[in-house]
Amino acid sequence: MLLRRMGTLQVVIGHTSGALRDAAVLGYRVSPLFSYYSYHGPVFRVMLQVNRGRVPENRHYGFISYCPQCGNSQSYSWDELGKISCPCNNGEVSPSLVVSGPLWTGPLHDGDYVTEMLNLVGQWRWTSNRDTDLEKFLKQIIDESDPNLPFGYIKLDEIGSRAKMNTPSLSTLMSALQKEGYAVSRSHISPNSIKTNCPLTMCIQIARQLQNG
Ligand SMILES: [Zn+2]
Repeated sequence: MLLRRMGTLQVVIGHTSGALRDAAVLGYRVSPLFSYYSYHGPVFRVMLQVNRGRVPENRHYGFISYCPQCGNSQSYSWDELGKISCPCNNGEVSPSLVVSGPLWTGPLHDGDYVTEMLNLVGQWRWTSNRDTDLEKFLKQIIDESDPNLPFGYIKLDEIGSRAKMNTPSLSTLMSALQKEGYAVSRSHISPNSIKTNCPLTMCIQIARQLQNG
């Protein structure tokens, strides 16, 4: 359930960067430039960059927890493994807490790199010559690469079923979250979902306010 919730790209990157974790000892670091998932196939594509230089303390390579009780999801570094807890249990370990990893918990794309891709698309007139949504797609990928966004996404259906109400539209909820100061984007992995640094419990509260407002 957890992996379906967050997507499998992180696992793919996790395996790759896991193998190259040993290479880190030799002074290399790995980071994703562009990641792509398509339901048809399914297709998983990850473009990684290998640079000389050390990763600070295995940043973005760790574990994630999911609490089926409250739906909260968090990431943990190796050092924090013994401190995994859930807010719904007053910071204590929830008995039903599911932990996965090690995997990639950082951004799936490099925003600057994808912006360059978008510029090339304009220069090469790929959008005007071909009938594709390439430009729109790349803009969405750039939105997803916001480093303030967490590893996973939240399905609107999950907000609806936990709040026991019909969820507001994706765009209504997104602008409400932005107004509250949270980072938010769509997810190319799951169409009716959002990526946000707003905790699920707060998303539910905001969705309820929208319905009552
Ligand atoms: Zn919980």
